[in-house]
Amino acid sequence: MKPLSLPNRTARNIRKTVCALFFSVLAWIIALNCIAQEPSVRFIDVNGATIAEVTAQLQAEQIYLPVDAVRQVFDPDMADQYNHPRKRLTLKIQDKQIRLQIGNPIVGIDPGGMTRNLPTPPIIIAQQPMLPIAFFTQLLPDFYNLEALYNPNLKRVQLRPKGTWTPTRTDNSVNWTIIIDPGHGGADDRGCESSTGLLEKDIVLALAKQLSSISKAQGIQVYLTRQTDTKKTHFERIQVAKRNQGQLFLSLHCNASFSPHEKGIKIYLNNLKGYFRFPSSRGGVAPPLQTGQRLKILAQADFLKQSQDFAHALQTELNFLTETPVEIIELPLVALSETYMPAVLLELGYLSNVEDLEKLSNVEYITGVAEAIVRAFQRYISSISPSPTALEQAQ
Ligand SMILES: [Zn+2]
Repeated sequence: MKPLSLPNRTARNIRKTVCALFFSVLAWIIALNCIAQEPSVRFIDVNGATIAEVTAQLQAEQIYLPVDAVRQVFDPDMADQYNHPRKRLTLKIQDKQIRLQIGNPIVGIDPGGMTRNLPTPPIIIAQQPMLPIAFFTQLLPDFYNLEALYNPNLKRVQLRPKGTWTPTRTDNSVNWTIIIDPGHGGADDRGCESSTGLLEKDIVLALAKQLSSISKAQGIQVYLTRQTDTKKTHFERIQVAKRNQGQLFLSLHCNASFSPHEKGIKIYLNNLKGYFRFPSSRGGVAPPLQTGQRLKILAQADFLKQSQDFAHALQTELNFLTETPVEIIELPLVALSETYMPAVLLELGYLSNVEDLEKLSNVEYITGVAEAIVRAFQRYISSISPSPTALEQAQ
């Protein structure tokens, strides 16, 4: 074989280097992609602030977290011990010892010899013991007198003090009545309509009914301004609120926009000093208010602070459900102007947006929204009349 001439050898070396460079860059891209695709679980506190974001592992559609997540989220002083040959994991939390076994859903708790069952057992990934998400949402919170709320879609866990928002059902002096107003209704007031034929009036009525049953189970009295697909005037809705001596008024609606990109949940408050979000045809200047109108709006303004408090409670709870941050908008709002009680108008999403429409067509999502709203009721009620448990905890 004839030895290679120098220029040839150089060319081959260059080709080799380029090749090596290409593959190392490719390897990096793949590696970076793998890191980016690793799911993570975000733990947030009562007010939605992040406690920790933990890298998770997905195995057979189950989420697993490393043992260290216990330290990151719950307890920096937690000590753990793993016995490799016996596949036993022991966690020392405060004065308790939690015994876990790889592949076994039964968890032992000492002292006392109690056991708890997990829906999925701990497993080994890359030679490390990994704990199922249920360990963090169903078992651990108990040890810290917390309760957890898990949103598997967004991989988000909210931790809140146990019992803080449970209404004081035994205390008769706290008797809460909330008015739920499903917007629109009847043949000629259908509200917004989606391209798939979904109607605002039907979505809000279905949600209102769920809200009613969940609230009642929690000891909160609820009245609906309409129970069926019937037309109701603004006056008739207000009358229901007055007749039943409501302490809070929540009007439910859906949005629609000419822009298919507009999406998300919006909370509206009636504030005379608020700005007009949609400029009028008169070049963005609000139409002058007549005397009667002004008086009515001012009367509602007496409840502005409470309405804002409830809006913030709603915002915090609904933010848990969605990636698009929930907006609060204050503006002079005729729809709430004559309700002489704290009042909020909730726009559940845009029927003109594909993502919002998909959510609003989903029965499970609507149930999630109903549960979040009831938690907001509890949050708001307990901010006005804290339960004995919360008071005890504060002492
Ligand atoms: Zn509407």
